[in-house]
Amino acid sequence: MLRIKNGRVVDPASGIDAAVDIWIEGGRIARVAEPGSSDHGGDGGDDRTDDRAANDGNHGGQKTARGDDRGEETLDATGLIVAPGFIDLHCHLREPGGESSETIESGTRAAARGGFTAVCPMPNTRPVNDNASVTRAILERAAAVASTHVWPIGAASIGSRGEGLAEIAAMQKAGIVAVSDDGKPIATAKLLRQVMEYCRALDLAVIDHCEDASLFAGSVMREGRQSVRLGLPGMPAATESIAVGRDVQIAELTGCRLHVAHLSTRTSLELVRAAKQRGLRVTCEVTPHHFTLTDEDVLYDTHFKMNPPLGSTEDRTALIAGLADGTVDAIATDHAPHEPASKQVEFDRAPFGVTGFETALALTMELVHAGRLTLTRMVELFTSGPARVLGRTRRIAAGEPADLTLFSTDHAWTFRAEDSASKSRNTPFDNRKFRGAPIATVVGGRVVYRREA
Ligand SMILES: [Zn+2]
Ligand SMILES: [Zn+2]
Repeated sequence: MLRIKNGRVVDPASGIDAAVDIWIEGGRIARVAEPGSSDHGGDGGDDRTDDRAANDGNHGGQKTARGDDRGEETLDATGLIVAPGFIDLHCHLREPGGESSETIESGTRAAARGGFTAVCPMPNTRPVNDNASVTRAILERAAAVASTHVWPIGAASIGSRGEGLAEIAAMQKAGIVAVSDDGKPIATAKLLRQVMEYCRALDLAVIDHCEDASLFAGSVMREGRQSVRLGLPGMPAATESIAVGRDVQIAELTGCRLHVAHLSTRTSLELVRAAKQRGLRVTCEVTPHHFTLTDEDVLYDTHFKMNPPLGSTEDRTALIAGLADGTVDAIATDHAPHEPASKQVEFDRAPFGVTGFETALALTMELVHAGRLTLTRMVELFTSGPARVLGRTRRIAAGEPADLTLFSTDHAWTFRAEDSASKSRNTPFDNRKFRGAPIATVVGGRVVYRREA
């Protein structure tokens, strides 16, 4: 039995914002109640203890205090927000095939340090996760070494090559939670239609990396005044929104759920907003780097090179408005580690992508401190928002999995890339000073991360 006490529980899905304690038993939330109330009300929880004994929280709570009765451990959350466990819908763990940049072990350790309790790795590994045996191998590895839950995303097409359909139904049985060819867009409208007809029947969301390949070709940043100034080839904002327009229409045609990955432009956001107003099942995510930085920040530093590229100030302002008003469903990191040597090249030769697990919460807190996002909305964007995209729920209530994120809204700290748990260092936020940090991460009732001082 683990008791999280003295915290402020913020759970938008249950409508809770109150000082309540949480009791955890056998990997599940046993009870949520006012502090000071009796801890003898484990109503019905006891009979579930035996079959979940393997998940018992006792071995994970090394920093927790042991109470004097009934062996109850406590985790003191004084001054902290206790939220449902954060979910990252979009990351790259690089295993199998890219272990010099990241592994399931190192990536999920970084995720836990960032407050995430579940992460969804994209299928562009080597081999691509386009069949059930790769899915199973990822899940087996995760069961052995991961700090967080790993919810894999399966490829839409074989090898993500944009030709034949991948083994989507078999992968779903093996445990994928959505489908995507991320790294690239789903190649053609015809293929997208086939994927969506299939996924509609399976009730799986199709996540698309929206990009018009012909406009993208050869470019390394957003086209605009800054790309001209730097003399770097740029892609126009329409590279993304043209594809969003295509995808929304195919979603309407098929009735399938569409989720737009790393949405980065004002026009794309307007298309999603209009689709939602028409009642289509269209959702989107925004990354912290896109709501924090703009193309003006791009000099020749390859740590500012990602795809989609950083946009204009107008785009950034629109994304923040979308986060606040509900048009955006989730904040996702698109954590894309690249080993240091690969980024130590000229800007136009470097791979696209930045790491993101350990800075996501603190970057979002910047919006909260600036009064541009409420705390409740922030929690929603990391919890019930992404869960809904996957057709799931995320809330704090008796019987729910004990996945919880404890964070401080004012802890002052400086992010140092060299201290990251990730195997890679490609972040544009090295040495950034933050106010607000993840303090403890609880996965299945186990404290998998606890911030030192
Ligand atoms: Zn992508
Ligand atoms: Zn990605």
